[in-house]
Amino acid sequence: MDLELTPEEQAFRDRLEAWLASVTVPEGLRDYGSTPTADDIAAGRRWQRLLVDGGWAALSWPTPHGAGASPSEQAIYAEAMARARLPRQLSFVSMELAGPIIIAFGTPEQQKRFLEPIRRGDELWCQLFSEPGAGSDLAALTTRALPSDGGWRVTGQKVWTSGAHYSDHGLLLARTDRDSRHRGITCFAVPMDRAGITVAPIRQMDGESKFNEVFLDDVEVHADDVLGEVGGGWQVALSVLGRERRMLGAVAIGLGAALAEIRQLAEQRGTADAVFRAAWARQWGQVQLLRWTWFRLLSDRGDTATDPRMSVLKLVSSEAQQQVARLAADTLGADFVLGPGAERWRHLFLASHGATIAGGTSEIQRNILADRVLALPR
Ligand SMILES: Cc1cc2nc3c(=O)[nH]c(=O)nc-3n(C[C@H](O)[C@H](O)[C@H](O)COP(=O)(O)OP(=O)(O)OC[C@H]3O[C@@H](n4cnc5c(N)ncnc54)[C@H](O)[C@@H]3O)c2cc1C
Repeated sequence: MDLELTPEEQAFRDRLEAWLASVTVPEGLRDYGSTPTADDIAAGRRWQRLLVDGGWAALSWPTPHGAGASPSEQAIYAEAMARARLPRQLSFVSMELAGPIIIAFGTPEQQKRFLEPIRRGDELWCQLFSEPGAGSDLAALTTRALPSDGGWRVTGQKVWTSGAHYSDHGLLLARTDRDSRHRGITCFAVPMDRAGITVAPIRQMDGESKFNEVFLDDVEVHADDVLGEVGGGWQVALSVLGRERRMLGAVAIGLGAALAEIRQLAEQRGTADAVFRAAWARQWGQVQLLRWTWFRLLSDRGDTATDPRMSVLKLVSSEAQQQVARLAADTLGADFVLGPGAERWRHLFLASHGATIAGGTSEIQRNILADRVLALPR
């Protein structure tokens, strides 16, 4: 594998850096990570429109729907945005989960209706999968859809739904057949303002409120709300989860920028001793390995979204986020807790705890790798 940038990739990077140097970043825009809070939406939306106008939106979507950027171009983009401390898009769930899933499973009518508003940031999506009794074991979900007048009526509860409080649509998994565990699940694209949907925000330990409980009480869904096949929701879910793991794996690519800042901090504070340098080099090496693993897996042919090897990316990337945040805490010492300039690092530290849970916990990734990649005995 050639690790140097090709002339085309170098040209892509130069074009991006030139655009970033010239663009006026909307007032109030901050690097909110993959999910904005409700307060981030206005600035995030203006940012998404600038990305569209600049040709930087929907890079991971295949043409003709999106830009069809190569894995290396996507990584160059992720690194540049991390260095500039800017969000990669308005909303990860809308752009990296809903959009690609509608491209893969949607009817031409659904693609025409939904894709452009997602790309432009006009409409936001949430992922209504997890339930109080179905997280790691998602196929245990009990939200039920009972047939009614050519459609269904849905009743149940979802939890940890990122962005549900401002989303226009939800990717909903519900049980259309109680007798079949996996084949009894159907995926629906449901407008969040349908009668019977109640959203209750949950406050997180980092003080922000990004995810929610969602209650569905006899909600009407129509035949043309089905995404994929009736009873084919598990395939859609696997594809969503695979994409989620692949893209969450890409988060670590941005950690190189955080590590460069931590090194600068240690040098300024005179604490860049041998112990720091060894810890820093270990993290740096890990981020580089993740970066190349991401390139390698994405460069493989076939449907990489459902490839169990994506669990390597998710597992190592989420744990690397926590290790880098801890290195920042160790570097800042007491200033990490008390220092006025340390809010960003405190937030990174607290938010990184969700990384090993969202999109499937580390234990579940290890189970997948043991079972489906290493074929270890049970
Ligand atoms: C920041 C964040 C955002 C999220 N956003 C969304 C969202 O938008 N939409 C959505 O639907 N969900 C979302 N989730 C929910 C997430 O998908 C679930 O939290 C996750 O799948 C784990 O499920 P659970 O919380 O029910 O834990 P459980 O499944 O109850 O697990 C509890 C513990 O048991 C362990 N465990 C469970 N089963 C096994 C096993 N077989 N082997 C070994 N250990 C096991 C787990 O690793 C964990 O440590 C989000 C979560 C977070 C943290």
